[in-house]
Amino acid sequence: MQALVYHGPGRKQWESKPDPKLEHPADAIVQIDTATICGTDLHILKGDVPTCAEGRTLGHEAVGTVVETGDGVENVRQGDRVLVSCISACGRCRYCREAMYGQCQSGGGWILGHLVDGTQAELTRIPFADNSLYKVPEGLSDEQVLFLSDILPTGFEVGVLNGNVRPGDVVAVVGAGPVGLAAMMTARLYGPSRVVAIDKADSRLEKARSQFGADVTVNSDADDPAEVVMGLTDGLGADVAIEAVGIPQTFELCTDLVRPGGRVANVGVHGHPATLHLETLWIRNITITTGLVDTRSTPTLLRLVSENRLDPQPFATHRFTLDQMMDAYQVFADAAKTNALKVVLTRS
Ligand code: NAD
Ligand code: ZN
Repeated sequence: MQALVYHGPGRKQWESKPDPKLEHPADAIVQIDTATICGTDLHILKGDVPTCAEGRTLGHEAVGTVVETGDGVENVRQGDRVLVSCISACGRCRYCREAMYGQCQSGGGWILGHLVDGTQAELTRIPFADNSLYKVPEGLSDEQVLFLSDILPTGFEVGVLNGNVRPGDVVAVVGAGPVGLAAMMTARLYGPSRVVAIDKADSRLEKARSQFGADVTVNSDADDPAEVVMGLTDGLGADVAIEAVGIPQTFELCTDLVRPGGRVANVGVHGHPATLHLETLWIRNITITTGLVDTRSTPTLLRLVSENRLDPQPFATHRFTLDQMMDAYQVFADAAKTNALKVVLTRS
């Protein structure tokens, strides 16, 4: 089969590789019908994820067809169309039993395209298939569910649910990349009074407003986001501030934007320490949450897409076939020029 293989920082190739085989009774082999690329894949390629070994097939987001299942698999069968979750879950450990699948203690968690070969390939082996694959509801296209592998549950669980967004809230989202936009889109499910999108790229802010439910946009290079948010909230601040960039400035901005008694939900992956200004925060009753996505909300999100309450398709900006993987990476990595949000790669 062909697969996108990581060969160390800055090096990748779409190349031939042996077909994956069942290794454990809980495994399934899935033919990849539709895949996408994640910002995390770019982090790996920059060398930011040293736990990802050379020779690894990248990718943790896809929709496919089950071709083979191990003896222990009960929930899916050959021929089933399935959504692959970015999180694999044994379903039995203490954390899985609390639906904290991202923290699975038995070899699950974020392993696909990281610690085991991933989904940017013609075939992939899915460990713990019963708890890591979801049957695609009848009538939904691959593209309608593809972004439920990662960005939608991430924005929803780590942003909106951790931030405890409630009706009437003013929700500030810092970072209007795919994850921040997913947080804006799913925040709308809770009836906020205003969703404020903050970014440095006008093209992303324009998308936030026209397609992802932002009411107000702020380019933080041109305007002071704190001033805008204070102006919208009688000088109090946002009820919830969601950090979806992953750098110290934007985390610190979130703690400036939030009102006393409000919530800061950090979603961004941070590579450097950020300052926690306890000298101003201690008196303000702020709650700060962090998290890795668990994908416990995937069934809920699938139902919302089925019932036309959520439409993830605006995330798809560019389309390729799987064998155009290298071109797709280029377009995705050059988002500032190409305006790419998510690229969709389909089996030709
Ligand atoms: P992205 O890089 O596509 O988007 C980031 C956005 O932030 C861009 O639109 C960029 O213009 C904007 N930005 C950059 N610097 C800024 C600044 N100083 N002020 C305002 N905006 C700024 O990333 P993404 O794919 O949307 O992911 C967002 C974050 O979420 C990343 O850190 C990613 O690693 C993380 N993530 C976390 C989880 C989790 O489980 N917690 C899962 C997936 C991704
Ligand atoms: Zn991802």
